[in-house]
Amino acid sequence: MKFTEFPTEGYEKVVHCEDPESGLSALISVHDTTLGPALGGLRMWPYLSLQEALTDVNRLSEGMTYKSAVARTGLGGGKSVIIGNPKTDKSESLFRAMGKFVDTFNGTYTTAEDVGTSVEDCVIVRKETKWVTGLPREMGSSGDPSPFTARGVFVGQRACIEKALGTSDFKGVRVAVQGAGHVAQFLCDDLAQAGADIYITDIVKEKAQALAEKHGATIVAPEEIYDVECEIYAPCALGATVNDDTIPRLKCKIVAGGANNTCLTIEHGDRLRERGILYAPDFVINAGGIINVSVELEPNGYNEERAMDKTNHIYDAVKDVIEMAEKENTATNRAAIMLAKQIIAEGKK
Ligand code: NAD
Repeated sequence: MKFTEFPTEGYEKVVHCEDPESGLSALISVHDTTLGPALGGLRMWPYLSLQEALTDVNRLSEGMTYKSAVARTGLGGGKSVIIGNPKTDKSESLFRAMGKFVDTFNGTYTTAEDVGTSVEDCVIVRKETKWVTGLPREMGSSGDPSPFTARGVFVGQRACIEKALGTSDFKGVRVAVQGAGHVAQFLCDDLAQAGADIYITDIVKEKAQALAEKHGATIVAPEEIYDVECEIYAPCALGATVNDDTIPRLKCKIVAGGANNTCLTIEHGDRLRERGILYAPDFVINAGGIINVSVELEPNGYNEERAMDKTNHIYDAVKDVIEMAEKENTATNRAAIMLAKQIIAEGKK
């Protein structure tokens, strides 16, 4: 195995690993461990160059620092990527080599599944290192993060309706949910129980239909979700759905959902603010999953109740961000980064 360190300003350690035997070419980026050891998933993607992979891993790693800071997981930010096609390039030896690479960080970086990798892949990584989270419950790990992500989104939405609608009661609140996948399913359970009126869409019709039947929700065509007259637009499918094309169409008062990278660029948060739409920044409201895995690393090990209890505090995190945005007279997504940096600076004292 060959390790090459890339000294990068603002990052603690960025390393490239090449292992000709298994075909592994991977990067681990540890951005900041002020608040604790770095945690972040392992992505597998057919990057066209090492430079492209480097840019991505560093961007994602920095994002994890802010996400964990605001979620108060007691962890820092890191991420790893394997350069390769997840459909054709996976093998036992590849993920074992990745495990050996993760192990060289001696616990300053812990990994988990991410885009392009699965729990099964991480189980192979675990054969070579103990620094893996998000494995199946049978392995003493925290299992599926979706119920926690969904709960965080729900309590974050509650913080938003209190601010934007002046009520904490979901009865009659119209929520347009984009995507009927893992997060959306659990979110709709909470929303329906609280009395919200759900509008649902998915490119897979049957998935939307199933949720519509379960909760009496109204089905909407995928392209029409932005035009739904509602209080909350809840993106739970793709990133970048808040952009130049969609912002003028939105008829909601709040954007709050589970998807990552909801705003195409940071400026799209400014555009939402100009339109008077309250945005719950993605990395604040969708932190339930990282909170859940962070509990695995606590001295007493994983505890579901504790994970849910900590996840419910996303309500406070969203409130803090809204308050910060008002104080600083800025968009909530900018305020969220400010808040994260403030929490890290306090951790440095
Ligand atoms: P998922 O794959 O289970 O669900 C996504 C759903 O969106 C699928 O049913 C898919 O068919 C649908 N979809 C895709 N494109 C669509 C479109 N254009 N219009 C409507 N529906 C579309 O994924 P998930 O685990 O529920 O995650 C949802 C989002 O939340 C993702 O952006 C993910 O990155 C983010 N997220 C998830 C977690 C988690 O714990 N699962 C944690 C943090 C962030």
